[in-house]
Amino acid sequence: MSPTPVPNSTTPFWRTELHELDSHRTTPDLPANYDIVIIGAGFAGAALAYYLYDDNPFPPSVVILEAREACSGATGRNGGHMKPDVYYQVPKYIKRYGVKAAVDVARFEASQVQAVKALVEKEKIDCDFVLTRACDATLDADLARDTHHAFTELQNSGVANLKDVFYAYGKDAEQLSGVKGALSCFTFTAGHVWPYKLVLHLLQMAVNKGANLQTHTQVTRISDTALPDGRWLVETERGSIKTKKILLATNGYTAHLAPQFQDKIIPVRGICSRITVPKDRPVPFLPYTYSIRHGVGMYDYLISRPDGSIIVGGAKPKFWHDRSQWYNVTDDSKLIEPAVSHFDGLMQRTFRGWETSGARTDRVWTGIMGWTSDFMPYVGEVPGKPNQMILAGFSGHGMPLILLSAKAIVQMIRQGSKFEETGVPEIFRATEERLKSTKNEILGGHSQPKL
Ligand SMILES: Cc1cc2nc3c(=O)[nH]c(=O)nc-3n(C[C@H](O)[C@H](O)[C@H](O)COP(=O)(O)OP(=O)(O)OC[C@H]3O[C@@H](n4cnc5c(N)ncnc54)[C@H](O)[C@@H]3O)c2cc1C
Repeated sequence: MSPTPVPNSTTPFWRTELHELDSHRTTPDLPANYDIVIIGAGFAGAALAYYLYDDNPFPPSVVILEAREACSGATGRNGGHMKPDVYYQVPKYIKRYGVKAAVDVARFEASQVQAVKALVEKEKIDCDFVLTRACDATLDADLARDTHHAFTELQNSGVANLKDVFYAYGKDAEQLSGVKGALSCFTFTAGHVWPYKLVLHLLQMAVNKGANLQTHTQVTRISDTALPDGRWLVETERGSIKTKKILLATNGYTAHLAPQFQDKIIPVRGICSRITVPKDRPVPFLPYTYSIRHGVGMYDYLISRPDGSIIVGGAKPKFWHDRSQWYNVTDDSKLIEPAVSHFDGLMQRTFRGWETSGARTDRVWTGIMGWTSDFMPYVGEVPGKPNQMILAGFSGHGMPLILLSAKAIVQMIRQGSKFEETGVPEIFRATEERLKSTKNEILGGHSQPKL
């Protein structure tokens, strides 16, 4: 059986200032009956809970079950980067899914940054949200050339909205990006955030409006079939709950509860770090968030925070060749040892003017992503399981995908909307066909993660 979250996970920077709901249980015992059970309290679970209560005078009863602490999964351990893919994968998606589908995905991703900004402003969420621009700088000559050709073709086709994308190729790239040896650079609107604070605020709002949050409560099983009254039985070590509706927000651990997602949503371990700079060393301002591309699928990505520290993830060149370090791995209590030293000196190696910055690694942690075998998230009704819905499998790229996908699921629940009326790209829909496919693009060598 597919594994569950391990105890004693590494401590990410984001979880160094804990919220009072971190290990919260709204009621001492588990309720026996609830309208809706949300499993997982990461960004997906919290956003679902938020929308179920938002502006709802007659909300259903909702319980959120979380195996560990609130926001202790991927969301609490990520790079904080909210970066829509508005150009990079678009040519590939056009070939595979057609123009409409590819353009839909790019539009949907781009709209999320503004949606998160609007949410943060509306709800006055203190989460260090910054609206900025992302810069993709490519160091590898073959990748820079291939990306150049693909982008030029995309521009010429006129199908995608590239108004917000600035592109420099060749001699100007290093100067414009500040990245040593950059052969090309793209910039476009993006954001960054303290993800834990965003999620805990959403959970707090839901709890204030009546949601029951139960942390340290692992779901061990969902009944194979519905009970005679149509409800599902959700089993935990603390008792069982009968519910009309289950929302799976379980990311890389989904297959443990829903075995049909075995080999479809695969746990993939990633590594992240925080780098600090001595206060007495002035360093060049980093105007963007960055992805530094070393080759196909090989990259580092970083954000510079308002406190002057830098959150950096990636380090793939150091460990990607050894699949046992990352593929089907759910242990985030251990670091990826070959990658740990990668962050030392990274700023000095990468950025012009940072050579004498004194930047040093402050902290390193790991986290478990849910990568899908076709790199598309699963959103919507679980095939063959009436009243079970899923929001999972963001392939290391959930921050610019989750909020509006959660809103869409709640629109389906509250207003009875059909999937196609929600604005979620059709290729994100959880379908029988996707579950039946035996293709695995992660291992097929086509992996081109987006960050
Ligand atoms: C190291 C790292 C860096 C990343 N960097 C970025 C980035 O910069 N930008 C970006 O867009 N994305 C990034 N990602 C990916 C991003 O974090 C995820 O796509 C997103 O957070 C997924 O949110 P989620 O709510 O679906 O999953 P999670 O945050 O993982 O939440 C799922 C929750 O479900 C709980 N759960 C699972 N099974 C059970 C069960 N049986 N019972 C009860 N609870 C259960 C888990 O404990 C967990 O808390 C990164 C991920 C990692 C690991």
